[in-house]
Amino acid sequence: MTGQNHVTAADVKNMAGKFGADLTGIASIERFRNVPENENPEQIFPETRSVIVIGRRIARGSLRGIEEGTQFGLYNLYGYDWLENRFLASATYNLAEFLEDSGYEAVPVQNLPKEIGPTGLRVADGRAAPNVLIDFDRAAVRAGLGEIDYGGFLLTPEFGTRQRVQIVLTDAELRPDPLCEKTLCDFQDKYSDFCPLDAIDPGGETTLGICGKKMRVAGIDFETCRECGNGAVNNRYYPEGPPDRIAAACGRSVYAELERRGKIERGFRTAFRKRPVWNRVGNRVELRDGK
Ligand code: SF4
Repeated sequence: MTGQNHVTAADVKNMAGKFGADLTGIASIERFRNVPENENPEQIFPETRSVIVIGRRIARGSLRGIEEGTQFGLYNLYGYDWLENRFLASATYNLAEFLEDSGYEAVPVQNLPKEIGPTGLRVADGRAAPNVLIDFDRAAVRAGLGEIDYGGFLLTPEFGTRQRVQIVLTDAELRPDPLCEKTLCDFQDKYSDFCPLDAIDPGGETTLGICGKKMRVAGIDFETCRECGNGAVNNRYYPEGPPDRIAAACGRSVYAELERRGKIERGFRTAFRKRPVWNRVGNRVELRDGK
């Protein structure tokens, strides 16, 4: 063996920041004890002691072209593909290398939709069929980074809807972060205004419980979302899965509302929402006051 340095949670956060992470949260593996086997990190790495969730912000400007309705491609790259698969992946991998240089095993995990489901055979009793797909948004809640809102988005106090997250599983025993105690989403009654296609259904509301944290989540009609022309982007990894909605009318409206209510810690000199909101319904575009 070469490196055998003791690593603490503070070391991990410090290094993750140096590697470009804007958010780092740590959950103990005990916080995953009751998740289904096909979403359980221990099925990937049975020696996992800590689940490190690291995030990079989506630059607010990456949403600007879609907010104005004039440029959709830049979000696709800077807000989605390149951000996830280049900038964030690089931070994730560097953090895994740092842990392994210190003598711990570290498994970098990319964020694939759990809707893909198992596609292979169990190799042994007690082992899940491949591929095990962790729910990253819920893992971020378990790691203390934030909450799931009424629209099903991961919200953090720092950036609201604007982040992407990846995971490093490690056998290092790290002090876990407390769950996020702030409540960001307290405007559930406004969500039906956020979707011009009525895909957010209060009638389908459920209460999501994660490690004792309770969150109300509306029913979302993802079939409608897959046809949405208001900034939703098809799932890059699994077209039949839920589309990416962060830049869609709903996601941008949630962000704008959080800003209006002063709930974003990483604030700006100017408001995100500056002009009437465009909504495409069929072949029509309508404008409405976004204030
Ligand atoms: S993605 Fe489109 S259809 Fe789905 S909730 Fe958001 S705005 Fe509505």
